[in-house]
Amino acid sequence: MAFKAPPGTYDLLPEQAYAFNSIRQIAFDLFERYGYQPIETPTFEHLEVFTHGIGDATDVVGKEMYLALSQRGLSAVLAGDVPPRTSEMLALRPEQTAGVARALVQHNLLPPGAATVKFVYAGAMFRHERPQKGRYREFRQIGAECLGAAEPSADAEVIVMLMRFFSALGIPRERMRLLLNSMGDDVCRPAYRAQVRDYILAHADVLCADCVRRADTNPLRAFDCKSESCQAVMADAPRITDVLCADCRGHYDAVLAYLDAAGIAYEEDPRLVRGLDYYTRTVFEVQAIQGLGAQNALGGGGRYDRLIEVFGGKPTPGLGFAVGFERILLALQALEEEKAAGGECEGGGAVFALPRVRIFLATVDDQARQAAFELALDLRDAGIPVEMDHQGRSLKSQFRLADKIQAAFVGILGPDELADKTIRLRDMATREEALVALENLVERLVP
Ligand code: AMP
Repeated sequence: MAFKAPPGTYDLLPEQAYAFNSIRQIAFDLFERYGYQPIETPTFEHLEVFTHGIGDATDVVGKEMYLALSQRGLSAVLAGDVPPRTSEMLALRPEQTAGVARALVQHNLLPPGAATVKFVYAGAMFRHERPQKGRYREFRQIGAECLGAAEPSADAEVIVMLMRFFSALGIPRERMRLLLNSMGDDVCRPAYRAQVRDYILAHADVLCADCVRRADTNPLRAFDCKSESCQAVMADAPRITDVLCADCRGHYDAVLAYLDAAGIAYEEDPRLVRGLDYYTRTVFEVQAIQGLGAQNALGGGGRYDRLIEVFGGKPTPGLGFAVGFERILLALQALEEEKAAGGECEGGGAVFALPRVRIFLATVDDQARQAAFELALDLRDAGIPVEMDHQGRSLKSQFRLADKIQAAFVGILGPDELADKTIRLRDMATREEALVALENLVERLVP
């Protein structure tokens, strides 16, 4: 029976796996300069980490989460024996902020009086969404969380870092839109939610059933509805920025001022409400202007000053973001394609350039292969990527193979070379050949 990867999942073949590692490395190196340390949390958590942390009323938790039950637990449930204990109800993580918040509290990573703690992570997330271009059921995020600072300079620092990350990846600034909004806090948001709820109910006849149904549970989600007619109606809905309390207003204005000072261009979007319940005050999203189709969000995040309390920690302000690896890849691919088609665009990524073999050792007989085996080990120990023939191919087909894998050099070993402790080195770009003493080979091969 021939299996395929399940819908919404895909294999990262070497080029993509390499790109993921490169993008991850670029993020970790850059974020380190801003004080971020790596963290890994489990791929699955107790279900309640997500239901409490993110909120049942969100799509991510209410509809899209993958629950995980052990075979033993499942058998018990099917046999009608026991309802599963909540401690046995696990879920694959749909995002990682909740896991990081849980870890922060569990390990007391931010004791009172401590400076901020900052974490960067990268890994797979799982959501049961309808698969389409740029939207998967298993996808990868690279994210950052900054905990302990309530000040607007922290918001601005996180946003600047995110934009620097996209620059480091080679995505030109003019290809992206940075959207900003404030979602208020416990002082001003409840009244705003009620206003939006009332607005939705007053327009129930022209909004989709989903938006109307969510009027009580999560009215702000109506701003995210994909239906064009809903979007048109919601364009005239009350705006949070008109009703922010003085503290939230001051915070928001200060974030904008910091971004202005850093020279970061942004667009204020009063309809930007992020789908997860835990956001307070600043929220942001970076969208690609071209190449991503409907799923144009490269990444987004915001402030979540109440989240740590949900996990039983002391009130701790925090904020963070996550970017989608697949979306970044699509954006970079679009740039590459444009350039290949003769476009003038700048940027694009070196992230796809799989490392090449530096030298392919071609051998004429068994004795030479034995010598090549040992030479290959020495060269690799010296840091040089080497490949050789293991299958006893003809010299001609070894050259063909070296060409195929785009080796920079072919080193030919035969009886004469073995006797003289030399190697015949062919530069595959210029086709020039030279006899090189083995003791000088490493030096010749170092790029
Ligand atoms: P969120 O956790 O929903 O704020 O998403 C943050 C980023 O993750 C988005 O901007 C996307 O780039 C990416 N993302 C979210 N959901 C998916 C998905 N189903 N497939 C691929 N990327 C996703």
